[in-house]
Amino acid sequence: MISTALIGLGANLDNPRAQLERALEALDRLPLTDCTRYSRLYASKPVGPQDQPDYVNAVAELHTHLSPLALLDQLQALEQQHRRVRLRHWGPRTLDLDLLLFDDRSIVTPRLVVPHPEMLNRGFVMRPLADLLGPQKLSSLSNENLEMLAQRVEGDDLLPLGPQE
Ligand code: ADP
Ligand code: MG
Repeated sequence: MISTALIGLGANLDNPRAQLERALEALDRLPLTDCTRYSRLYASKPVGPQDQPDYVNAVAELHTHLSPLALLDQLQALEQQHRRVRLRHWGPRTLDLDLLLFDDRSIVTPRLVVPHPEMLNRGFVMRPLADLLGPQKLSSLSNENLEMLAQRVEGDDLLPLGPQE
């Protein structure tokens, strides 16, 4: 059975855009998984300490035959691969890959909570998610607040990134 999963990506490495583009390609290469679409990239101010680079965020849509936990394993393996690079060369921040939505399922286990509990509070998740799915599709997801929240974050401190210079 094929499922649709939405993944939130974030990085604030020295070249976070390249990290994110590498991560999007890696998502497409995951076993039993295709990355079918992804949002534009956004720059956002870090949450917490401001003496660190801006983040680059995006949301990707996957079609996968993996189970939610098997997909989480794969996402965490990718984070580890990026983390190794980061610890050697860059600062203390890493690639973050969050499993936002998995079909219309609600999952609560010690390792995995879906929908991701913080997604509604994070403009840097909801804005690219709204771009990707469109308000129509968002409102058809299990949480009817998604569309409203996606509209509310329109004015957030997000900068859509243009084509790479
Ligand atoms: P956050 O992404 O909330 O800022 P982390 O990436 O550091 O924080 O959190 C990682 C932990 O969150 C992992 O131990 C993972 O098992 C757990 N987790 C629970 N639900 C999810 C989810 N939907 N997506 C990703 N990780 C999750
Ligand atoms: Mg995470």
